[in-house]
Amino acid sequence: MNYATQMEAARKGFLTEQMIAVAEKEHISGKELCRLMAEGRIIIPCNKEHKSIVPNGLGSMLKTKINVNLGTSRDMTDLEMEYEKVRKAVEMGAEAIMDLSSFGDTRKFRRYLTHNCPAMIGTVPIYDAVVYYHKPLKQITSGEWIDIVRMHARDGVDFMTIHCGINKETAHKFKKNKRLTNIVSRGGSIIFAWMEMTGEENPFYEHYDEILDICREYDVTLSLGDACRPGCLADATDASQIEELITLGELTKRAWEKDVQIMIEGPGHMPLNQIAANMEIQKTLCHGAPFYVLGPIVTDVAPGYDHITAAIGGAAAAAAGASFLCYVTPAEHLRLPDVEDVREGIIAARIAAHAADIAKGVPGAMDWDNQMSLARKKLDWERMFSLAMDPEKARSYRESSRPEKEDTCSMCGNFCAVKNMNRILDGEIVSIYEE
Ligand code: SF4
Repeated sequence: MNYATQMEAARKGFLTEQMIAVAEKEHISGKELCRLMAEGRIIIPCNKEHKSIVPNGLGSMLKTKINVNLGTSRDMTDLEMEYEKVRKAVEMGAEAIMDLSSFGDTRKFRRYLTHNCPAMIGTVPIYDAVVYYHKPLKQITSGEWIDIVRMHARDGVDFMTIHCGINKETAHKFKKNKRLTNIVSRGGSIIFAWMEMTGEENPFYEHYDEILDICREYDVTLSLGDACRPGCLADATDASQIEELITLGELTKRAWEKDVQIMIEGPGHMPLNQIAANMEIQKTLCHGAPFYVLGPIVTDVAPGYDHITAAIGGAAAAAAGASFLCYVTPAEHLRLPDVEDVREGIIAARIAAHAADIAKGVPGAMDWDNQMSLARKKLDWERMFSLAMDPEKARSYRESSRPEKEDTCSMCGNFCAVKNMNRILDGEIVSIYEE
């Protein structure tokens, strides 16, 4: 069968080896997967040049996946630490890694990822252009921006964030409708500044067809970036955010005409009560394309704990239809995360994703919880550790405070409700006081 992208194969009714692998993992029939992929509601980001990938699908009817952001910055250039974070992310079950490097030899790290890593690899070519050309932002030409997209595609990147929704019209809307925190997207702020300084249209919008041709050639999924995502609760669901989303919906249709796989990026910062409605708006305006959310962070006042604020928002978003959660670490808004921050961020995102999968009834999602509950009922501590999302932490907590009665824990000791109920229902005497 001759096909350029996974979407084209699905539209021709052909099951690729990647689709077979995803269908098996997700307990969905190949036929159903093919139908949903043909409609753009499920995607399998999988560049033909990324040979080490273990394919995964994204779609609201599948298990919610998580992404880990990594990469060097001008103030933190330690590549060894980034390799360690990659190992940790893969070991802890992250399905995707985004390389956001903005300093040094970015190609070396990117190619390391696409040659060795089983996770989907994403990048943001805008950042890399600034590093690669070694010249002031204003002097980067339209064509040079697009050349970076081509280079990343050739390097085997599976999905790319492209900030093509902030065109001159959206920028005008943004300037007319004042915000509390302006544009907080790194890529969005770069391209907005470039447009302001050159007076030209956003090259990613103007040359969108050329980008689609590149994506079609390598089967790169476009992650349509949300330059105007709200950067604080006060800016959530404002005119700029919605204006950009309308443009992203139009660009989604144009990509599908060329069988290019698409996902849409979303907020940002958002009050909890607005999240479900935002998911509905996105699904409608972007025709059911998978939604990739960055948070949403549900309160602005908890720096140091933003893995928690994001997990609350992420769970609500995924339960209402988001397919893909970008992790947020405790270091968010404060510094580049270290390995421990990455670990905390991954666990928080995995908890959010799993909680959402239970809420939306993903087949088999709750089996894990039932097994844990059974182990708890049996006071089978080894089994509890092996089932824990973070076995190491669970074990170290118990070890740090041993109970007098080995089968209980130091929380209630001989008042252990689980133990006492098991005994009384087995016909034993429960005295508590003398035990
Ligand atoms: S001692 Fe209390 S917290 Fe610990 S297992 Fe028993 S009931 Fe649960």
